[in-house]
Formats: sequence, C-alpha cells, structure tokens
Amino acid sequence: MEFDSVSEILRGKTGKISVHGWIHNKRSSGGVAFWILRDGTGLIQCTLRKDSVKNFDELENLPQESVVEIFGEAKKDPRAPEGYEISVTSVKILSKAAEEFPIGRKEHGPEFLMDNRHFWLRSREMLAITRIRAKVLQAAREWFDKNGFIEVHTPIIVGAAVEGGSTLFPVNYFGQKAYLSQSWQLYGEAYIAAVGKCYTLAPSFRAEKSRTRRHLTEYWHMEAEASFCDLEEIMKVEEELITYIAQKVAKELPEDLKFFGRTPQDLLKIKTPYKRITYDEAVEILKKSGVKFSWGDDMGADEEKILANKFEQPFFVTHYPKGVKAFYHKPDSKNPKVTLSNDLLAPEGYGEIIGSGERIDDYNELMKSLKERKMNPKDYEFYLNLRKWGTVQHSGFGLGIERLVMWLAHLEHIRDAIAFPRLINRVTP
Ligand code: ATP
Ligand code: MG
Repeated sequence: MEFDSVSEILRGKTGKISVHGWIHNKRSSGGVAFWILRDGTGLIQCTLRKDSVKNFDELENLPQESVVEIFGEAKKDPRAPEGYEISVTSVKILSKAAEEFPIGRKEHGPEFLMDNRHFWLRSREMLAITRIRAKVLQAAREWFDKNGFIEVHTPIIVGAAVEGGSTLFPVNYFGQKAYLSQSWQLYGEAYIAAVGKCYTLAPSFRAEKSRTRRHLTEYWHMEAEASFCDLEEIMKVEEELITYIAQKVAKELPEDLKFFGRTPQDLLKIKTPYKRITYDEAVEILKKSGVKFSWGDDMGADEEKILANKFEQPFFVTHYPKGVKAFYHKPDSKNPKVTLSNDLLAPEGYGEIIGSGERIDDYNELMKSLKERKMNPKDYEFYLNLRKWGTVQHSGFGLGIERLVMWLAHLEHIRDAIAFPRLINRVTP
C-alpha cells in the first residue's frame, strides 16, 4: 500500500491520510495520547483519543520506537510542534519495541550518545546533520560539474605516505607493507594529464595522536587537482566552490541550520573574493595578540582560532614556510623559503577547512625536495615520472567535509559532523 510521507503533510497536505514510521516520542494524559511519529522524511505529532481509537489502552502502552501504520486525518494546528498534526482513527502495530529505548531519557552525556550512535542517528540533531551533509556534497558535485571537473576514484590502500609518516595507518598487505590513504592527491596529479581537471570524494585516514575538536582518524576528503593552474587560480576555485555550497545549504535547509544556532543569513552574505593574508602577516597578527609564535612555526588550532576570530567570512593564509608543508609544495621563486601554498580558514574560530597549493612540476626539484626530507624516491617512482612526460604547472586542494559541515552548521565538535566518528579512542559502533 502507498503511504503518505510526513514531509508532504508538513508541506500542506491535509485531509485523510495514512503514514507509517517509528514512535519517536510519546506522552499521554487523561485519555489522550500524543505521539511524535518519525518516518524518515520528518516528524509529526499524532493525537490518539480514547473515545475514538479502538485499542487505545494497548496503544498507549506501546514502547517508544515501535513501528506503526497510522490512519487518520492531517490538519493544520498551530499548537503542534511542527504546525501540523494527525488526528488518529486507527493504528496497525508492525513491530513492538522492547521497553526502555536506551537513549529514551532526556539527558545524556556525549560519551553515552557516542556508545549509542546507532540509535542517536534517529535524533532530530542527527537528521539535520545528515541532511546538511548530503546537501554539501550535492552542491559540491554540482559546482564541479558546472566548472569542468570530472569525478575520479583511486585506491584507498596505498604504498606511500602523502602527508608525512607520523599519521600513517599501516596495513599488512599479504606480508607487504601498505597504508590507508591520507590523501588522493598523488593519484589526482596523475589523472590531470588525462582529464585536465578532476576531483574525488573519498575517506582519508590520519593516525592523529592528539585529541582535538577538529580531528577524526577517518574523515571524508574532497580533493581537486587542475592542470594549467597557479596559486591564484586554485584559490578562485576554492572560494567559488565554498560560496556556492554555503549559499545552497543556507537557501535550502534554513531550518536544519537554525537548529544548531546558525543564522542562514551568516552564510548568504558570504562573498568572493575572500580576504588573503600571507603567513608573514599572520605571524605579525599572532605576535601582536600576545601568543608565543615565531616565523617557521606551524599553526595549530589555537593560533588559527585567533586569526579566524578576526574575520567574518572565510579567508586565505598564503605562502607558508617550506618546513611546515609537505614535500610536494612548490617553493616561491621570489622567496624560496616559502611555498606557493594556501590554507582556507573558516571564520568564528573554526580555522582550517582546506589545505592547498601549487605542486612542484620539475623532476629535479621534486627529487631534491624528497631527499631534503630524507624520503625514499623509490616510494614515489610513479609520482616522479609524471614530471618526465608531459609535466605542467598545476595546483590542487583538499577539503575536509566534516570541517566544512562543522563550520556551516555551527557545531562545537567534529564528531557531530559524521554519523559514526572514528577518534583516537573510538572504533565502535
Ligand atoms: P591540520 O593542520 O588541521 O591537522 P592538515 O594540514 O594536516 O590539517 P591537510 O593535510 O592539509 O590537513 O588536509 C586537507 C584538509 O583535510 C584539511 O584542511 C582539513 O579540512 C581536512 N583534515 C585534515 N586532517 C583531518 C582530520 N584528522 N580530521 C578531519 N579533517 C581533517
Ligand atoms: Mg593543511
């Protein structure tokens, strides 16, 4: 049988309806039971009256998360939480849940909710996040498609590090040493000679030893790479992409954003071009603000927070020193101590959401960079050889999807930007 969806009713479908779903919440008083029904498309209040529903006593005692088919009448009701309610005439029970839904009580600490993530997924909070996340990816794909980037996929099990050895997850690959991918980039650089401009969406893995609000050990990484592209051009790609995503989420999911205290207007007012400051300028700002920071130091969450609090919309920090960037970053010919790199930082203290830059396209220069870092050129044979046949100026970037969602939705912790977070102390559920 065809059922109506809760979202249709919330959009104004009234009259005789049938819906099916889970009893999200319930309360009753004096012969009236109120259920909040959840069907995957939304939540709606259902009212059951003892004098008009046959098996009222049985229904009143149905545990939370039982699955039911509901027949009744939908109508506008300003007193109902969502503005509409269903006046129930009959109910068919499809599955009776066990007593005491584990997360049924009102207040729980974050660890408990993490242990019960498989149930917490059903919460209004996670529903909003799930929708925002999906919208972010939909918007990103739209933007890439409109701008001539093709989506490509490459292995997750890989032979060499991209971002340095300290965050590698080793894999025993039939007795041979391999790793979980930290980044698609090296393959992306191989692909551009075939397709010009490309992007991917894939999990990246980082054995982050520190516990922070913005590091997962497994995260979703959207990476792009473009040939015939310099630092300024790749920054344009980044700012246009991020603006497009932010606006689409703000326009299409304002209610989900407001749920976490994000005013959609904050995102709608974002405009390109974003402000750009150099690493040198960032150092000056940091020194003035009184933190201990010297030229050549890497910026962590604390430093980025100080910078990001000074801006109302995303901004770039460019030209990082060689020492804080990976081996593939191209030195600036005007000042070889710094690289043609940029990070995109989100405002309001959120900090880095994109790492990016121009890549070394010369074979000898790349070889020199590997050797300076005591890395083994043998591990990078295919990557080096790309510079021998058809090398070209090119740039790319990596965008952390959870970092982006965290900022867009105004979340406090990155764990809430993903359904089943992987953290230093957590691999279940
Ligand atoms: P950070 O300095 O914040 O640890 P990074 O410089 O190591 O990040 P990159 O190697 O530049 O990060 O990765 C590109 C993007 O991937 C980052 O800008 C960020 O959005 C995201 N990212 C990196 N590491 C993580 C992580 N552990 N968890 C979630 N997202 C991450
Ligand atoms: Mg970075």
